[in-house]
Amino acid sequence: MNLQQLSEHMQGAILQGDPRLRFQRYNIDSRLTESGDLFFAIQSRRDGHDFVADAVRRGAAGAVISRDVPPLPTVTALVRVKDTLCALQDLAQHVFGTVRPRVVGITGSIGKTTTKEFTAELLSTRHNILKSEGNFNNHLGLPLTLLRLERHHTTAVLEYAMSAPGEIAALTRIVPPDVAVITNVKPVHLEFFSGIDAIAKAKRELLEGAARPATAVLNYDDPRVRDMAAGWEGQALFFGLSPDCAIRAENIRYLGWDGLSFDLIYQEERRPTRLPFFNRGQLYNFLAAAAVASVFGIPVQAVAEAAGRLHAGDKRGRVYVLDRRIRIIDDSYNSNPAALEEALKSLSRLPSGNGRRIAVLGDMLELGETETGYHRRAGEFAARTAIDLLIAVGPRSRHLAAEAIAAGMDSAKVLYFDDSREAAEHVPTLMQEGDVWLIKGSRGVYMDVIVKKLKERG
Ligand code: ADP
Repeated sequence: MNLQQLSEHMQGAILQGDPRLRFQRYNIDSRLTESGDLFFAIQSRRDGHDFVADAVRRGAAGAVISRDVPPLPTVTALVRVKDTLCALQDLAQHVFGTVRPRVVGITGSIGKTTTKEFTAELLSTRHNILKSEGNFNNHLGLPLTLLRLERHHTTAVLEYAMSAPGEIAALTRIVPPDVAVITNVKPVHLEFFSGIDAIAKAKRELLEGAARPATAVLNYDDPRVRDMAAGWEGQALFFGLSPDCAIRAENIRYLGWDGLSFDLIYQEERRPTRLPFFNRGQLYNFLAAAAVASVFGIPVQAVAEAAGRLHAGDKRGRVYVLDRRIRIIDDSYNSNPAALEEALKSLSRLPSGNGRRIAVLGDMLELGETETGYHRRAGEFAARTAIDLLIAVGPRSRHLAAEAIAAGMDSAKVLYFDDSREAAEHVPTLMQEGDVWLIKGSRGVYMDVIVKKLKERG
């Protein structure tokens, strides 16, 4: 689209610039602006209008604004709209309607990004895919993703995230999914909800806002997700470990660092499959992706082959092998009670060269009033697993450390640091040959600084 067409779709007025001008990309962050971009001045935590000049300095060919900005070079396109966020979303909707790919929408408390990546990988064996980059999954990320659609894209694999009721419904109004995937419902972002059932209700908005007809892809082993099929008039496809699932894993074998193998039951077919992951959560993410692949008619052989090519995302369970056979499992992207338990179980199952398994656990944020209880329970859980050293990081994790000791862990094997920076200074000196280190914590705790220091030293 040229400037004239863009402006019409946003119901804007061109203040300056050649109406025939075309743009390379659409962008809302002046720091990421490149030559030829159209910059949208979005009012968020900060007001994007304050960064229009910066965006233009970095090469933006135009900007969409809703209030006056200081004068810009006359060649710079400028479109004035009533509301820049609505303009961005309207434009995205228009582009979506023009290309009209089939849409896979993915939500859930844990594993959205991973499931999105897996799904895109499986579908790309037969389809031209557009997927959300990273976690472009909210009222800004979703439209920005849609604006990357090209005519050759037959399918869009999109992540729908939320931290409050109504947010997913709003995203489905921009783009309703044809296949709606719900990975699980867990205590994540709990501080914004009255309880876990309220989280389930908010996730179900993906089904309510889905296209008609649509297929729901649901985790059977999570009762709150399973129950979402009740009252759903479309097709429902279940994945999980239960025999009731059309897409399931049977005969699971844990192969240590080689991951896990299982029989993939795919509709009526059975296929031995290996996944290069040792975390059972990743198996669920894979099964969700496989279920979507079955909706798209991808043959089981292609799915099983692609399974071996999947890999963990950055900071989402990636393994680094250092000198002296030390291994680091970098799970520093995020943490919550359910994902932490799964990660600790995986750690206990892994072989270690010298027998030492070390868990460095940072605070789990956004749990609301129940946060102390969740940290205590995590400490108790950790004490029952095969961990040789527990390193707790952050004020909430003080409870985790205390409870691990109360539950029987030797206090000499429990360390505590106030924050990740302090931990990063001391922890690397503890590394020994053959160690296995798991690093996990909520994003806001910056456990990745510990991973960085460990890698530097190792
Ligand atoms: P989201 O996009 O929902 O935040 P991610 O795919 O980014 O989830 O994964 C976040 C973290 O949770 C990562 O550390 C990953 O290793 C872990 N994880 C991913 N999927 C699962 C799952 N199904 N169960 C338990 N942990 C998981």
